[in-house]
Amino acid sequence: MAATIAPAQYGMEAPPPYQPTNQPIVHTTYTQAQPVAMQPVMTSTNTVVVQSAGRLGKGPSNILCNNCHQNVVTRTTRSLKGEAWLLALVLCCLGGILCVWIPFVMDSMYETTHHCPSCNTFQGTT
Ligand SMILES: [Zn+2]
Repeated sequence: MAATIAPAQYGMEAPPPYQPTNQPIVHTTYTQAQPVAMQPVMTSTNTVVVQSAGRLGKGPSNILCNNCHQNVVTRTTRSLKGEAWLLALVLCCLGGILCVWIPFVMDSMYETTHHCPSCNTFQGTT
């Protein structure tokens, strides 16, 4: 009974209007989901980077240690970057031996390493 009725309706009207109607609905739903998912991820990533970079300065900084959870002033160590030696070599080749001292007095050629004074954990480099 049912098998006899179904082929008669399917061959007359059902297949042509049904297939074009389904495809646009699927595409519209997928296009709306992509921009909504990407925007919040980029905003939250930018906020985290700004907060962590602004905490540590060139000198001892007041921070909340992420290991021992105490409010401490960091113990700092100032050291020469590897780029200073490369710049000294370039200046020696271009300007002679008298220009070698220039990178060693530039403040930007030094980096400051921060450690927690309580638990001695590395906190960051500026
Ligand atoms: Zn600590």
